[in-house]
Amino acid sequence: MADITITCKDCGKEFVFTEGEQAFFKQVGLEHNPVRCPGCRKARKASKQTVEQKNEQTEQSENAN
Ligand SMILES: [Zn+2]
Repeated sequence: MADITITCKDCGKEFVFTEGEQAFFKQVGLEHNPVRCPGCRKARKASKQTVEQKNEQTEQSENAN
């Protein structure tokens, strides 16, 4: 295995998918290489959590009615 340089799907910047990360991906059963740089992955994860929190709040207010 060697380090792979991948172009981020979101921001278009190149990032390195290191040997260590490739080994980790295999360990957790992920067959595909990441398509986003670590920065964009974090941003996506954060925005997803925000949406989920909003949904929870909506459900709670609906239950209150
Ligand atoms: Zn990116």
